[in-house]
Amino acid sequence: MPLLRPLVFALAVLAIQFPPPAVDVDRSSAPQWLAPYREASGRLIGEAMSSDAAWQRLAYLGDTYGNRLSGSPNLEAAIKWAVEEMKRDGLENVRAEPVKVPHWVRGRESLEIVGPIPQPLVMLGLGNSVGTPPAGIEADLIVAHSFDELDAARDKVKGKIVLFNVPFTNYGETVRFRAAGPSRAAALGAVAMLVRAVGPPGLRTPHTGALTYVDGQPQIPAAAVSTEDAARLQRMVDRGTTVRLKLMMEARFLPDADSANVVGEIRGRELPNEVVVLGGHFDSWDVGTGSTDDGGGCIATWEALRLMKKLNLRPRRTIRVVLWTNEENGGRGGLAYRDQHLQELSNHVMMLESDGGVFRPTGFGFSGSDAARGRVRDIATLLGGIKADNIGPAGGGADIGPSVQHAGIPAMSLEVEGNYFLIHHTPADTIDKIDPIDISRSTAAIAVMTYVIAEMPERLR
Ligand SMILES: [Zn+2]
Repeated sequence: MPLLRPLVFALAVLAIQFPPPAVDVDRSSAPQWLAPYREASGRLIGEAMSSDAAWQRLAYLGDTYGNRLSGSPNLEAAIKWAVEEMKRDGLENVRAEPVKVPHWVRGRESLEIVGPIPQPLVMLGLGNSVGTPPAGIEADLIVAHSFDELDAARDKVKGKIVLFNVPFTNYGETVRFRAAGPSRAAALGAVAMLVRAVGPPGLRTPHTGALTYVDGQPQIPAAAVSTEDAARLQRMVDRGTTVRLKLMMEARFLPDADSANVVGEIRGRELPNEVVVLGGHFDSWDVGTGSTDDGGGCIATWEALRLMKKLNLRPRRTIRVVLWTNEENGGRGGLAYRDQHLQELSNHVMMLESDGGVFRPTGFGFSGSDAARGRVRDIATLLGGIKADNIGPAGGGADIGPSVQHAGIPAMSLEVEGNYFLIHHTPADTIDKIDPIDISRSTAAIAVMTYVIAEMPERLR
């Protein structure tokens, strides 16, 4: 519907009160036990869909604080803002739980073809990379398309800059070259590593992201180049041209910095010690505004609590939103949450993370027992009206992972359809890629799912 969609989008932006969608599910397909929750679910969905509050808050976050890399003053200022805003929303026990985070800084950086004819390339250093000497590193290029191919060319790698030119298939498969490539190349004597951006082809857009150095190998600087530049370097090498490159990066670590996970709650009215946790990670890479990765997940989960508060819905159990710090280049927020809440993890009923973007929601991934899956499937029928009722085979997230694994907690993740990997970790991760209706719908789905789990008499097991 190429014509209708811009119209709907315009209505969402311009008209404050666009009609809420039909929210009733076909009663013959909705399990009977859900009857007591139908009214509250309808109100949550109606409230979420009748305003663009989530989108506006996310836009404010990105416009005001920009990107939020661990250790940056931007992140800490945004954390202070979130604490104050959660208090203004009327959330309870709002606090910042201290976490020490790694403090990596990019500094200036550049990549250029030195010969045959000098010219600059578009690049983005990889997170946690070491820098080059001040004058940069100059060396000839060698291209590989797999680790096996590089190993087979081992005699030619010493003293070279290696480019892994691997087309994007899916994130899990392709990100190996970004994460492990530097140490694989260093093991054979390479002086620097480049990786074709881990994402579908964009408009000459490099993607940053963390690398992982292996102990016992030299640490060499590493950067991403755009799909277009990788293809161009490939063509030059294929023609037999000796391509000489110069990489300059000031990247380095400073001492660990003070940061925090932001926590806010609605205390349960009958079982306050049993907790349903939902959230996203508040830090981002140092490019773009981290609106999709993962400002959107933070704001949508937080908004779910605000809606409950606004509608005077206080569930049986406590609902807690957590904005974790340092997911991108350390995971310290998720680890600190586990350690600081160790005593109450056995009372964590379910943990949900939204870190796949807040595009059009299709439902949730779920990991847990078959009985719990049955319950979650039933609850999802309440989301049929907004077409977010699919329950996928696995749920989880990097920040909830340590707690979930430690205590065997049922885990969920919001699932969406959108161009997440086209923009994530790039300067293009900005608010304009997010449709206000999609984030409202994501908020509605999260609010209904977590509310019913926190409210139903039996604990999800
Ligand atoms: Zn993320």
